[in-house]
Amino acid sequence: MSAEQIQTALKILKGAGVRMTPQRHAILSYLMNTKSHPTVDEIYKSLGGKFPSMSVATIYNNLKMFKDLDLVKELTYGDSSSRFDANMEEHYHVVCLKCGTIEDFYYSGLHQVEEEASTSTGFKVISHRMEVYGVCSDCQVQH
Ligand code: ZN
Ligand code: MN
Repeated sequence: MSAEQIQTALKILKGAGVRMTPQRHAILSYLMNTKSHPTVDEIYKSLGGKFPSMSVATIYNNLKMFKDLDLVKELTYGDSSSRFDANMEEHYHVVCLKCGTIEDFYYSGLHQVEEEASTSTGFKVISHRMEVYGVCSDCQVQH
């Protein structure tokens, strides 16, 4: 993710009256610079060394605030812990059934599915979710 994206996010936070702390900045830039869709625990493991006073709860509360300001998305997969994604472009995820890796992919055709759902049921459709499951290229080579 670009420095520009971080600047935009900082503006939004400032506009919302959120005080920028080094921890908060670290959590946000970590998310914007990773493609790994980390859990709260993974963020904690990566940043905890640099910020010994930062707790899992701090990270969680910051993520919730970023989410309320539409800076990150929370991904929920059944009963496993939530993952967080700072890529706010419309995209989908393919999930590895062996290692849990989540990769982005882009596909534009699903607006038709929403329209079809609306036409055939009379619902006012608001959103949809789709995940694709498989085995990632790393896991395919290690049998
Ligand atoms: Zn895998
Ligand atoms: Mn993603």
